[in-house]
Amino acid sequence: MFDLTGKIAVVSGGAKGIGRGIVTALKKGGATIVIADIDEKTGSATAAELGTDFMALDVTSQSQCRAVISKVREKYGRLDILCSNTGIFPQCTIKSMTEQDWDTMQKVNVKGMFFLVQAALGVMEEQKYGRIVITSSITGPVTGFPGWSHYGASKAAQLGFMRSAALEYARLGITINAVQPGNILTEGLKAQGETYLDQMRATIPTHTLGEPEDIGYAAAFLASDEAKYITGQTIIIDGGQILPESPEALL
Ligand code: NAP
Repeated sequence: MFDLTGKIAVVSGGAKGIGRGIVTALKKGGATIVIADIDEKTGSATAAELGTDFMALDVTSQSQCRAVISKVREKYGRLDILCSNTGIFPQCTIKSMTEQDWDTMQKVNVKGMFFLVQAALGVMEEQKYGRIVITSSITGPVTGFPGWSHYGASKAAQLGFMRSAALEYARLGITINAVQPGNILTEGLKAQGETYLDQMRATIPTHTLGEPEDIGYAAAFLASDEAKYITGQTIIIDGGQILPESPEALL
């Protein structure tokens, strides 16, 4: 593991799922972590279990994003790592999609990420140091799935934002990268139902779904001092899911 001792990290959506996997990996590296999540009950329980701090946060509120980052700076003196991981993925076909469905998706996944990253960059710019890791997806930037056009658009938008942000902050000691998970067994993924999970297992070369920590270790690497020369890039963690040309390619 990379040594993250002394680093102060915020993980949004860290109460459960991939966020919890990221918290676990950063903790193994020795970081001090604040879980920021809308689910206060699970977030507090996770924080108590993993030995981290918890702050309630709805990323769709710019004032809450700014307040959480300010509180972190007040309490810990700095902010080294932001893992902007919050995301929602309710399925909806284009035919039945309302303006509200579209807007809610973009509000949480894109605007919420922007609010939190912008707030963190304010602190990181003063420090001339920072590591930002955004949780995108393979869905959108690389692949598609019926019912997730609005989600895919939001996950591709995150990468577009990341690349320009990386350029704006490259000379300030701040890197901005992303992880692109495949199908990771989380509460959110379980909600898609057993049929979906079975379909996915069948199309992944390993024939297994990923574990939240699989994403956590990639995020911990991008959050480390050693990753200082990597910015505006992504790591795909998907058990090889995007590789097969056809089902026949799967052994
Ligand atoms: P999850 O199990 O649903 O966990 C997400 C956490 O974020 C939950 O605690 C959720 O609280 C919280 N949250 C939701 N809306 C929020 C808001 N407005 N402000 C703050 N926190 C909020 O999701 P996951 O599967 O771990 O996914 C995490 C990230 O990975 C997302 O960005 C997702 O798009 C991405 N991803 C997931 C997969 C996968 O296979 N699981 C694949 C590719 C990418 P509530 O439960 O109360 O809503």
